[in-house]
Amino acid sequence: MPDPNGFLRYDRRLPARRPVPVRISDWREVYPPAGEELIREQATRCMDCGIPFCHDGCPLGNRIPDWNDLVRTGNWDAAVESLHATNNFPEFTGRLCPAPCEAACVLGIGGGQPVTIKQVEVEIADAAVARGGLRPRPVPAPTGRSVAVVGSGPAGLAAAQQLARAGHAVTVYERDDAIGGLLRYGIPDFKLEKEHIDRRLAQLSAEGVRFRTGVDVGVDVTAEQLRAEHDAVLLACGALQGRDTPETPGRQLRGVHQAMTHLVAANRVVAAAGDGRPALAVLPDGTPIDAAGKHVVIIGGGDTAADCLGVAHRQGAAGVHQLDLYPEPPETRDAERDPWPTWPWVLRNYPAHEEGGERVFAVAVQEFVDDGTGQVKGVRIAEVSVEKRDGRRIVTPLPGSERELPADLVLLAIGFEGTEQQPLLEQFGVRCNARGAVDARPDWQTDAEGVFVAGDMHRGASLIVWAIAEGRAAAAAIHAYLGGVGELPAPVDPARQPLAAR
Ligand SMILES: Cc1cc2nc3c(=O)[nH]c(=O)nc-3n(C[C@H](O)[C@H](O)[C@H](O)COP(=O)(O)OP(=O)(O)OC[C@H]3O[C@@H](n4cnc5c(N)ncnc54)[C@H](O)[C@@H]3O)c2cc1C
Ligand code: SF4
Repeated sequence: MPDPNGFLRYDRRLPARRPVPVRISDWREVYPPAGEELIREQATRCMDCGIPFCHDGCPLGNRIPDWNDLVRTGNWDAAVESLHATNNFPEFTGRLCPAPCEAACVLGIGGGQPVTIKQVEVEIADAAVARGGLRPRPVPAPTGRSVAVVGSGPAGLAAAQQLARAGHAVTVYERDDAIGGLLRYGIPDFKLEKEHIDRRLAQLSAEGVRFRTGVDVGVDVTAEQLRAEHDAVLLACGALQGRDTPETPGRQLRGVHQAMTHLVAANRVVAAAGDGRPALAVLPDGTPIDAAGKHVVIIGGGDTAADCLGVAHRQGAAGVHQLDLYPEPPETRDAERDPWPTWPWVLRNYPAHEEGGERVFAVAVQEFVDDGTGQVKGVRIAEVSVEKRDGRRIVTPLPGSERELPADLVLLAIGFEGTEQQPLLEQFGVRCNARGAVDARPDWQTDAEGVFVAGDMHRGASLIVWAIAEGRAAAAAIHAYLGGVGELPAPVDPARQPLAAR
């Protein structure tokens, strides 16, 4: 029986972040561990609601009130078990999820303070490591069926673990030199140190999952070869086609890059150094793409832009502007527009924003300015209004509002246009829809028999929690397709959408 008065006794509290001057001099995670006393206090705030709306916010169906109460009572082993019953990788979601469960928490009604669900989650996940490590589950009797998983992000890995635990022989194919998808080289270490991925991979390997890196499916191995070797294929190739702005004058200048170009280069350097100190980033051809001493302009307002901001400060940027097309959101939920328990449009201050830089709202780039040698030296912006007409976005510059910002490095973090166009699609006979994603039938199969799809490749650029949920659900469908005994958990179906008011 949970404490019915916990939320009256305790306010919502998170652990203090590491001080800014300390954390921007290295790449270590921003948050230190919370400490048992704080986390048990915060778990005590959970009311174990009759209808726990936190469940509706989370696509994984996490048993949030159950593990909150297990933490409150210090029952850590049972909390670890309960958390892993619905989530293969709580150490990733606990660190990285924007927590739609907290937006849906009953304690958040009317501007109240939701339970720190995500913090409790990460502490349980870390407790699993501290209390004996991520022990592999016993390998079941082999079913004799084999599955190829293409792409090793959270969707592919979740599916691989579920299928291996059901006795199937699973091989994960990844074109990169390391496993992890965006978790590995997209998301910086100050949000997720890579030892968390490596620890999980050791567990998956011990459970029988085989990994083949450096294999670009569709190029190094054909779809036909893959289909001949395996009984089913899961495509989990992500949505990595970065949106660009080719029509903006000056786009071709040196120093104007896709955000991912910058992030991947920086994260690779950190991975290579491994000692946690800031290091210089270079492109594959050796050209530096480092922010040190530069004026940086980041275009975009989401996760990717915030990650670029944190990287730029750690590399020693002289100054950073982050531009957003839309006006500054309100600090609190607009109940008319986004009623509880939906995900609200509010100003999101990531830890990276605390570290410096200036955010500029309601502006659009008119031109990348040439220094006369083909190198960018500035960005000409104008204030704009944005409206939707007939489903289309109309951006109107305000006359006379133009000004120039200094820029030696410009990073485009303006979203993704779906999955990459690559030979694999045609070889498998799989088409993309108008959003650049691959449709799935209710059983997660694509138009091609025995070829399934999950994660960002199916949903479009989304969140880790959705990738894991889709990976688990697709694994359940593949298990059924292969005639496996019993059912695997399927937390979502392909049509499931986040909570919405209309
Ligand atoms: C910079 C950035 C920061 C983000 N931060 C967050 C965050 O804080 N919280 C959050 O919840 N979400 C975040 N996201 C979103 C999240 O990372 C994605 O939603 C998630 O990783 C999608 O998982 P996935 O498994 O579908 O695909 P991915 O993680 O994209 O993995 C796809 C993999 O497929 C591989 N692949 C593609 N084609 C082939 C091929 N032909 N052969 C072999 N391999 C192939 C790719 O190399 C890649 O490794 C962020 C995204 C970005 C870009
Ligand atoms: S909605 Fe909030 S208070 Fe209610 S059970 Fe979920 S976490 Fe606990």
